[in-house]
Amino acid sequence: MTHHPSEVTLLAYAAGSLDEGLSVVTAAHIGACRACQDAVRVCEAIGGQLLATLQGTDLAADALPRALARLDTPMPPAPVAPRQNIHRQISPAALSSMGFTPPHALSPYRLGKWRWVAPGIHHILVLPRQGGHAGLHLLRIAPGTALPEHGHQGNELACILTGSYTDETGRYGVGDLAEMDTDDEHKPIADASEGCICLIATDAPLRFRGLLPRLLQPVLGF
Ligand SMILES: [Zn+2]
Repeated sequence: MTHHPSEVTLLAYAAGSLDEGLSVVTAAHIGACRACQDAVRVCEAIGGQLLATLQGTDLAADALPRALARLDTPMPPAPVAPRQNIHRQISPAALSSMGFTPPHALSPYRLGKWRWVAPGIHHILVLPRQGGHAGLHLLRIAPGTALPEHGHQGNELACILTGSYTDETGRYGVGDLAEMDTDDEHKPIADASEGCICLIATDAPLRFRGLLPRLLQPVLGF
């Protein structure tokens, strides 16, 4: 594994402030990367130290009776997270039709079937992009197939789940994490032998150069 998240991304992940979609892609990498697991533990330890050094605040005089009174109040039902589905076991038949084993980070999400979007390219929308929240996508790229060249208006994280691809910034193999921002343009090409399945999150629309990808963009939610 040669491509890891930036320190900024790892810190935001450890602090719990990274957007959900970006966080899932980061978690897919961390689950496979011992070095980043160690880095996240360091970030969490630093966060814990920072919490421990916070100045205390005096409680209101009636804080204790109010807390005790609330113990007798019936609990409201737990809110359901609006953008997450419950954990779903994927049957062996469904797994073999997907062509890969989803990483643990994807276990809370219901994964649909692959949809053909262009020659050599299939897509599963995991989470739609909503407001400023990142969309989360699975892409399956056939051997030797190129994705349309595009730039970014926000952040894009991609973790390779099977196979590999190459773009202007290097070659990305299983577990590698590609991090792109507004300065980057690229045209990933799946390697000829195996193709590639990757998990991608973007928090702003991509800027495609070609007309056809621009026409497809609303359908895909990229
Ligand atoms: Zn790593």
